Amino acid sequence: MQGSSSDMQEIFARAVARSKAIGDILVERDALRQIAKQYMRFHGRKPALIIADDNTWRAAGSRAESELRRAGLEVQSHILPAVPRPKPSVDLGNSLAGLMDGNDFAPVAVGSGVINDLVKYAAHRRDRSYSCVATAASMDGYSSAGSPLSDQGFKMTIQCRPPVAILADLDVIAAAPKQMAGWGYGDMAGKIAAGGDWLLADALGIEPLDDVAWPLVQDNLRAWLAAPDAVAGGDPAALSDLFIGLTTVGLAMEFHGSSRPASGADHQIAHIWEMEHLSHDGEVVAHGACVAIGTLTALALYDWLLRRDFSDQDVDRALAAALTMDEKRRAIQAHFGEGQIAARAVEETEAKHVEGEALEARLHRLVACWPDLRRRLIDHLIPRNEMRDLLARAGAPVDSTRIGVSREHLSATTLAAGFLRSRYTVLDTLAEFGLLNQAVDEIFAADSKMEARG
Ligand SMILES: [Zn+2]
Repeated sequence: MQGSSSDMQEIFARAVARSKAIGDILVERDALRQIAKQYMRFHGRKPALIIADDNTWRAAGSRAESELRRAGLEVQSHILPAVPRPKPSVDLGNSLAGLMDGNDFAPVAVGSGVINDLVKYAAHRRDRSYSCVATAASMDGYSSAGSPLSDQGFKMTIQCRPPVAILADLDVIAAAPKQMAGWGYGDMAGKIAAGGDWLLADALGIEPLDDVAWPLVQDNLRAWLAAPDAVAGGDPAALSDLFIGLTTVGLAMEFHGSSRPASGADHQIAHIWEMEHLSHDGEVVAHGACVAIGTLTALALYDWLLRRDFSDQDVDRALAAALTMDEKRRAIQAHFGEGQIAARAVEETEAKHVEGEALEARLHRLVACWPDLRRRLIDHLIPRNEMRDLLARAGAPVDSTRIGVSREHLSATTLAAGFLRSRYTVLDTLAEFGLLNQAVDEIFAADSKMEARG
C-alpha cells in the first residue's frame, strides 16, 4: 500500500495532462520563485489582480506581488480582512467580480479554501481565467470546478471553472497553521466513506463506478493517507503527497463531471454544519474539520451495517414501514424549518425518492447482492476506530464536541443529512431499510458507554 512519491508524481502528471481545464500544477519547495513564469504562460503580460486576506497576504501574497512586479508586470492587490474570516458567500463573490469590471486583469487567488472558492466564482462570473497560489493543504477544492458558497443561507456547489494554473510552494504550505493540514487529511479521509457510498450506488444500479475517476482516487487513497504523523509534523514530503492527493481528487471530479468521486454521506453531514455556520471558539469551523467528523460518523454507520445480514423478511418489514414523500417532507420541515433550506432539501429528496415496486425491487436487489457487496465494502472501507486513530495522529478533530457539536446535535444531523442531496449514500440504504434510526441510536449509545468507561 505504501505509495512511493515518484509513482505518485507520475500518476499526478498524467492526470494534470488529461485535464481540459487546468494547464499546470506546480508543487515544490520555493515554487513562488517561478510564479511569474507560470503566470505569463497563461495570462501573457496582462496585469494581475491578487486577491488575498491579511494572513495569506503575509504568507505568500506580498512575495507573489514582488515576483510578478520584478518580471515587469502590473499588479493590483485586493486584501480582505482576515478577522473575521471572509465568508464563502455569493454576495462577497459578486463584489470581488466587480473588481474585474472595466479592466482585463487576470485574477490570482492567494489563499486556501474560502479565498479560492470566492475568486473561482468571481472569475467565472466575469468569464476570466485565473491562477491560484495555494497556502495550505487544507481541502480538495483547489482543482475542482465547483465553488461551495452560500446563497441566502443555503450552501450549494456552483459550477464554475477551476484555475488554469495552481502553484503550491511547499515552504509556504509547511508554514501554514498546523491544524490546516489536519483538515486536509480529514477531507481526504472522507474519500474512504464516499467510496463506500459509490460502491453501494453501483451495486444497486443507481450510479455506476467509472473507470477513470474511481481508480484515480481509490487506487491511491491509502497511500495519500499513509503518513498521518508526518503530515502533523509539517514534513514537506508528506505535505506534498497530501497536496497532490487533494488536487488529484479535484481532477477526478472534473473527469467524472460531478463530485461523486469525492463526497458522500461524510460531506452531507459536514454541509449541514456549514449551512448552520457552525462556529467554535469564535471561528467558523473549517470544512475539513467538519468532514473528519462526518467521515467517522459514516464509517460507524458502515461498521453497523456490515454486521447485519439481510433477508426477504427485512424487505417486507421495510416496505410496510417505508416513508411516503409526504412523510419525508414533514421530517424535513421538522429538522430544517420552513425556509429556503427546507425547500431545497425537499427538491433533492424528491429526486431520489422511490416507493412501491421500485423500492421493493431495489431492496430485493440489495438482499441478493449483499454477501458479495458486503465483502467488497469490507475490503474497501477502514473501520471507524482505525480511522479515528489515523485522524487523531494527523491532527484532525475526532470528537464532535471539539468542533462545537454535541452528541445530540450530531445524532440529529446524521438523521437529517440524507435529505440534503439527491446523491445516494449509506444513509439512504439504512433509511430505505427502515434502519437508520436504530443504527444512529446504537452507534451513539455505544459511544456514550465508551465515554462513561473513560
Ligand atoms: Zn471536501
